[in-house]
Amino acid sequence: MTRVAITDTTFRDAHQSLIATRMRTDDMLPIAEKLDSAGFFSLEVWGGATFDVCIRFLNEDPWDRLKRLKEAITTTPLQMLLRGQNLVGYRHYSDDIVIKFVEKSAENGIDIFRIFDAVNDIRNMEVPIRTAKRLGSHVQGTISYTISPVHTIEAFVAFARELASLECDSLCIKDMAGLISPRDAYDLVRALKKEVGLPVDLHSHSTSGMAPMSYMAACPAGVDILDTSFSPFAGGASQPATETVVAALNRTPYSTGLNLALLTEIKEYFAQIKEKYRSILDPVSEQIDTSVLIHQIPGGMLSNLVSQLKEQNAMDRYDDVLKEMPEVRKDLGYPPLVTPTSQIVGTQAVLNVLMGERYKVIPKEVRDYVKGIYGKPPAPIADWLLSKVLGDDCAITCRPADLLEPELVKRTEEAEELGIIKKEEDILTYTLYPQIAPKFLRGEMVEEELKSVAEAVPVRAGIVYNEFKVVVDGETFHVKVNPAGETTIEEKKPPESVEGGIRSNMHGMVLGLKVKKGDAVKDGDVVAVIEAMKMENNIHAPNSGIVRDIFVSEGDTISAGTVIMSVY
Ligand code: MN
Repeated sequence: MTRVAITDTTFRDAHQSLIATRMRTDDMLPIAEKLDSAGFFSLEVWGGATFDVCIRFLNEDPWDRLKRLKEAITTTPLQMLLRGQNLVGYRHYSDDIVIKFVEKSAENGIDIFRIFDAVNDIRNMEVPIRTAKRLGSHVQGTISYTISPVHTIEAFVAFARELASLECDSLCIKDMAGLISPRDAYDLVRALKKEVGLPVDLHSHSTSGMAPMSYMAACPAGVDILDTSFSPFAGGASQPATETVVAALNRTPYSTGLNLALLTEIKEYFAQIKEKYRSILDPVSEQIDTSVLIHQIPGGMLSNLVSQLKEQNAMDRYDDVLKEMPEVRKDLGYPPLVTPTSQIVGTQAVLNVLMGERYKVIPKEVRDYVKGIYGKPPAPIADWLLSKVLGDDCAITCRPADLLEPELVKRTEEAEELGIIKKEEDILTYTLYPQIAPKFLRGEMVEEELKSVAEAVPVRAGIVYNEFKVVVDGETFHVKVNPAGETTIEEKKPPESVEGGIRSNMHGMVLGLKVKKGDAVKDGDVVAVIEAMKMENNIHAPNSGIVRDIFVSEGDTISAGTVIMSVY
């Protein structure tokens, strides 16, 4: 008997893929007990974007969600997705933070840690894997799957061997873009089973429509676990449907043994829940998008790209950007496209097209990537790009986190000073999201803001407004609800032209002002940092002089060409 087990992702990846991770704990708990009784291998309930969205939009404590789910789900293991040294954030954290985070996650209820790294650099996974192993947790060593000339079966097997040498309990093929074909699924699963011997989980998305077939093909190759979600939250950008996969495998040697009648009862519940979130469901994400088969760009990245181009008022350059994307990916050594490398590649491609010159503007994150801060790219970075970014410096060769000072003590002190610590976990929440955590932890997110953002997305004349500028206690939050659709942004008016005016070269948010009125600056100095397309971009002074006036504040959203300050 080669029974296939099922990991249900409805509480994590499925609602992350279809309704921007907005499902609330109160909508999960009523069905938790029944889910627990269904006989799943595990329930993926935490990690990925769930942590971020809880504190940013839902006013829910992610630790509290985990605890409450653990109380309700007593038999089935709870699983989380952990971005290696990035945890559930967007940068590498120091080892002491990583260790503490994994310890607290296990303590609050995580049994299985699915740990991955965007560029499959084992050094970014070592510390969380060793920590989870020490705690006796199940570690699923994860391969970020992609297609490129260097991502061969041999390369994936070699990486899986590294994961096995760290004593991972199982392997996961994480096909975040839904790219894996039935043929490739069969070959890769078979090779992993034969060469490494650990249980293999196949995680895919229905984006291209191939996932159900690839799941089927993986069965005779010996796949042990398949990831699915209940049908109301399945398909399109999400996983294949649980009920469908279970029914399809019935009366085969791979039968899951799950009870279809019980699954259907659970499905009815989720169908009702889906209605509640209908207004934030992006119809595009529910569809099959076969263009991914040609350009291999994940669905989420495409909708991100569209909103970036709309923001920059440059939708006419869409095709050019699609052509540029694989070129940038090649320059950067073929990283798999997953957070954060998808943003890194996508943004550089957009900039290369919009600036009319390749790599004229290189955001900080791309520079860091080239320096090796994100890990070792799958293939060498183009030489000319290395020298353009590094000059005479060299890329780092050490484990990236070796460059990070311990930060737990420092963050603890900061958080204590802010008076936001009620439990140890709050220190981690603060460390991961220092900008938004204080307000959340103080309980200062206002009811109105939560309503407008999380539930009642206003729809007018067919336009879904998905970006909000919300001012709370004088602090501005730029909130995106959903990456598709039109945007609305209020702007104050800086001067049209002014002597010595320095302009922003793109639409974005003023992340930081590096100078103040009266400061002397030199030609080339960084005077401001603009966050555009989720990346930090430095604005340099084109001439030396004195800062005469500043026309924007940190947090302001400005358009391309806005005069930021005058220097002469
Ligand atoms: Mn996924």
